[in-house]
Amino acid sequence: MSKPLSGKTAVVTGSNSGIGLGVARVLAGEGANVAINSFTDRQEDHDLAATIAAEAGVNVAYIQADMSSGQQCRDLVAKAAERFGAVDILVNNAGIQHVAAIEDFPAEKWDAIIAINLTSAFHTTAAALPAMKSAGWGRIVNVASAHGLTASPFKSAYVAAKHGVVGLTKVTALETAGQGVTCNAICPGYVLTPLVEAQIPDQMKTHNMDRETVIREVMLERQPSRQFATVEEIGGTAAFLCSAAAAQITGTTISVDGGWTAL
Ligand code: NAD
Repeated sequence: MSKPLSGKTAVVTGSNSGIGLGVARVLAGEGANVAINSFTDRQEDHDLAATIAAEAGVNVAYIQADMSSGQQCRDLVAKAAERFGAVDILVNNAGIQHVAAIEDFPAEKWDAIIAINLTSAFHTTAAALPAMKSAGWGRIVNVASAHGLTASPFKSAYVAAKHGVVGLTKVTALETAGQGVTCNAICPGYVLTPLVEAQIPDQMKTHNMDRETVIREVMLERQPSRQFATVEEIGGTAAFLCSAAAAQITGTTISVDGGWTAL
């Protein structure tokens, strides 16, 4: 049975956990073949690809590439195109975080955050665009953040990188306008990923609060809905941006943040 993305191939960077994995699963469910990625090369990474393939009835490959290396970013796109015949959908999702005041922020952490969260998207986009343009169809979805639109203290590199991703999104959209290729950024607020889930017990201890109170009063203090977004919701937003209905949506941001940036 044909599904909306049958016959398409998606590359999702940083997708062996969290949001990237959620996006990969949704796109596979919509019929796309998917290349999942991280910097590790463990049996469980390849097993994960096999699991998604079996769940969705599509082809899924795990391709190791370190998104802090420009060359490996470009190689990821080339390897996926070689394996599946094309890269029609590119989701730039890989990201890391470090929290410190600017004067204490380790320079190597700044460099790593800018490389993985921002520069990687430049390299993968540059590698993917020529074939998308000549095919007359392509979708680039950049996973930015509410921090691509607004700031918080102690997150200088992350906020700078995510604002940069939003800027890159606009330029990519302008350079591809009218050619069947779109580029947009999703700006999630707080999303319940395994990483975030793991912080809850510590926060409960630190604040001497129960799970619900710590989530509502501490973690989601800036998210007016006081509810996490889910990886499935981010995946669904990415799938919408890949759909026919979104053909004229380009160069924009879609917030999935429970009202954070409306404040
Ligand atoms: P996560 O840690 O679960 O996922 C990050 C992914 O990136 C993992 O698969 C990890 O292996 C991969 N990765 C890290 N360094 C890499 C590297 N050098 N090369 C290749 N892959 C690498 O975190 P997440 O919350 O799922 O974050 C995914 C994206 O969503 C990030 O860009 C993050 O900034 C963004 N985001 C997350 C939230 C949230 O609340 N969780 C909110 C807004 C934006």
